[in-house]
Amino acid sequence: MRSSMLELFPTEWDRALVLMAHPDDAEYGASAAVAEWISQGKDIRYVLATRGEAGIAGLPPAESGPIREAEQRTACDRVGVSNLEFLDYLDGRLVESLDLRRHLAGIIRHHRPDGVITLNHRDSWGPRTWNSGDHRALGRSVLNAVADAANEWIFPDLEEAPHTVSWTAVMSMEPSHYVPVSAESVEKAILSLAAHKQYLRALDSRPVEEQAADQVRMATGGGDRRVSFEVFGL
Ligand SMILES: [Zn+2]
Repeated sequence: MRSSMLELFPTEWDRALVLMAHPDDAEYGASAAVAEWISQGKDIRYVLATRGEAGIAGLPPAESGPIREAEQRTACDRVGVSNLEFLDYLDGRLVESLDLRRHLAGIIRHHRPDGVITLNHRDSWGPRTWNSGDHRALGRSVLNAVADAANEWIFPDLEEAPHTVSWTAVMSMEPSHYVPVSAESVEKAILSLAAHKQYLRALDSRPVEEQAADQVRMATGGGDRRVSFEVFGL
């Protein structure tokens, strides 16, 4: 969809929480918007459900987890995000459940963001491209947890006071809004994805920087320089 058919993403907010399943999920496009928002002085925090320890073929989870965590910290540094937290779910085995919703609702209440950003909760990324179980479970649980966080009656055992999020932005194939981003933010996003060095090397024999540049340019609409989201709640 051309950005001319999409609405401009809201600008009047201060804090957003990026809730993703894995290291690298935010770096396939969203990070260009994150870099742009940080340059505007907004407060962006990342919470990742897993360490992505099942993500590198040939490298056992015990070795892969710490590498991927470190790569994510570098990826965050490169777009100016200092607030990064990992939950302790097992990579590849996320399940959409009331427990996960309660956990996420508690996290949303704790950080009290204006908006939440997550990854595609839908079954596919387009024709014949199945979306991973982790992405679907996390994305759907996030959308539910946003409602749960605002409702005092669903998880009355949560300690923190209810909190209402204004919007939830999903990196999906059915975008409704776009964020214009500068060339500098695109460059930061490329460096941010390239921080996932060992992960990208295991995926593709091309140089990491080349892979990252291709992916981020595609995700930011090439010369259009915009990041698109499917936005709920507006
Ligand atoms: Zn992922």
